[in-house]
Parts: sequence; structure tokens; C-alpha cells
Amino acid sequence: MRTDVNTLGEFGLIEHLTRAFPLNNPSSVKGVGDDAAVIDNGPFCTVVSTDMLVEGIHFDLAYMPLKHLGYKAVVVNLSDIYAMNAFPRQITVSIAISNRFSVEALDELYAGIRAACEAYGVDLVGGDTTSAPKGMVISITAIGQCEKELLTYRNGARVGDLICITGDLGAAYLGLQLLEREKQIWQENPGIQPDLEDQKYAIGRQLKPEARREMIETFRKVGLKPTSMIDISDGLASEIFHICKQSRVGALVEESGIPMHPEAELLALKFKLDPATCALNGGEDYELLFTIDPADVEKVKYLPEIYIAGEILDAKDGIKLNTKGGNLHDLKAQGWVHF
Ligand code: ADP
Ligand code: MG
Repeated sequence: MRTDVNTLGEFGLIEHLTRAFPLNNPSSVKGVGDDAAVIDNGPFCTVVSTDMLVEGIHFDLAYMPLKHLGYKAVVVNLSDIYAMNAFPRQITVSIAISNRFSVEALDELYAGIRAACEAYGVDLVGGDTTSAPKGMVISITAIGQCEKELLTYRNGARVGDLICITGDLGAAYLGLQLLEREKQIWQENPGIQPDLEDQKYAIGRQLKPEARREMIETFRKVGLKPTSMIDISDGLASEIFHICKQSRVGALVEESGIPMHPEAELLALKFKLDPATCALNGGEDYELLFTIDPADVEKVKYLPEIYIAGEILDAKDGIKLNTKGGNLHDLKAQGWVHF
């Protein structure tokens, strides 16, 4: 029998492959299923996360400069460490490259990696280099640290908790749509220079994303420990589903509470897309989605760039979106389909 991986989807496939791997070592605190794994190291826990980026699937060098690619490859990994309420300290970088890439090209990639290491205070401590028949694959592992009692998982949301979102959503997806469109125009008419000047925000969100380090620092300062947290890499809807599934709860998301940048909203309308759909089902924003005990609302109320966008419900109430028009819909998680 041959089963196509499409029938399971990304998350179904991960579950299928990892179901027969129990955690046997007492130091394995958290295995598969969160933004990062957690390893008990005495007073602290070590937090580990890996991501792989494949040319043609996750990045397109037609519009992604190598330096930006290096920066982004690091940032997306650090984002998973912050999503555990932890701080990244080290990374390893593994690359598989075809002979299409020169030393100068790889220097550019590593200039971006170095810029991210400096910006986020992490050390490059190893990796692996190998050749590939074509294209480029980058795999980065980030290692972080957290006090045991501050670790924040996807499974801690409780009924009545408030749903919070940092920053704004949808712009990175719209930036990608814009770059894809300009690439197509350029391929058809190589004489035409792309004009992206008036869309700096969305392009920047796609080409140079940042991870939410200062948010985790702020949590420490105001003494806030979210009840659950995940980073928004696949779109808000998909991440809400992860929180709800793992916490065994439902949710009510207010469309009016979903933060969007005005430039992104305008760009969505230009593309004849519903702005909220871009926020819910776009990806690569690398903001944080977290839930808080309502007793903690005073701690976040006056903080910039934290938006309250809903409430955790009982599992039997399902996962709902209250639209700006006042209609209640079942929220659907599309996310990205890579296969
Ligand atoms: P994220 O989007 O936060 O990077 P993923 O959706 O990639 O998370 O992964 C979800 C969980 O599944 C993580 O705990 C990750 O370590 C685990 N995982 C993903 N792929 C594999 C694999 N091939 N083998 C074992 N664990 C995996
Ligand atoms: Mg994640």
C-alpha cells in the first residue's frame, strides 16, 4: 500500500511519524508538539527548536537577497524560542548547496546570519555543510534558556482567559503577494523595473521579519506569565487551533480585535482580498499569540503593541470568529500547505 503524504497534511504527518516515540529520559520535559522542545537542566531548562528552509518552497532568490535570507532564517527560529517565554542563546546552521553558489554569495548569506546573531545576542556555535544536486537548503537549530517556572506552552489556556496578539498581522503575506506579482511582471517584461517604493511596510515584513524579543523582556518586567503562547508563523487561525487543540478549549475571536497595519489593509483591498482573511490565513508575521488570566489584564492593558482579540471558551463552544458585521462563523484553519 502507498499513502500519499497529502492525505495527512503537515501536522497529521508529524503526528503519524512521531506517535511511537515516548519520552523516556526524565530530563525530556517536552517533546514534539510545541514551538520548541524543553530539556531539564537543573535550575534552568534548555529550549530547542529547528526549522528548515528549502529554496523554491520557503524562499525565492529572485526577490530575496541572500543577506535577508540569512537574517530571516535565524529570526524564524528565534521566534519559536521566544514563543516558549525563553531567551535564545546559541544557534547551529546547516546548509546544503549546489555549485551554483559562490563563496561571495555564501558570504552574503552569512552576513545576514551574523547581523541576526548580533541583533538578538545569540552565538553561532556549529552546523554542517554539504553539497546538494541543486538549489539551497538551510536548517537552523536555536537553543535557548528559561527558568523552569516561566516556561509557557501551547496547552495552558483556560476558559475565560483573554486572547492577546502582539504587533499586526497579514502584512508579510501581502508583501509576498506583491513580490510574486512583481516577479511575474518582470519575467514577462524584463525591461520594466519593479516599483515597490510605496509598499515599504509589507515588503519589509516579508523580507526582514523580526522576532519578539522585547515582548518577552516586557513580560519579565511587568511580572506577567501568559497561560499559553505560540508564535504566529502560519496565520492566526492555524495558531488559535493549535492552542485550542492542545489546551482542550474553544475560542471566540473578534475580527475587530485583530491588529492590522493600515498599509496592509489598503494593500489587501488592492489585491481584492479581505484584510481579515490575510491576517487569519496569511503567514510569516512572527508575532506572538498568547492567553492571559483575566486577573492579569491590568498588566497588558497599557502596553504598546499588545491587542486583546478574544476570549477562551469551553471546548464544546467551538472556535468562532465574530465578524465586524456581527456574524458568528466557525473559524477555519487553512494555514500553509507545503506538500
Ligand atoms: P513551528 O511551526 O513552531 O516551527 P512545526 O509545526 O514545525 O512548529 O512543528 C510542530 C512540532 O513537531 C514541533 O515540536 C517540532 O519539533 C515537531 N516536528 C516537526 N517535524 C518533525 C519530524 N520530522 N520529526 C520529529 N518531530 C517533528
Ligand atoms: Mg512556532
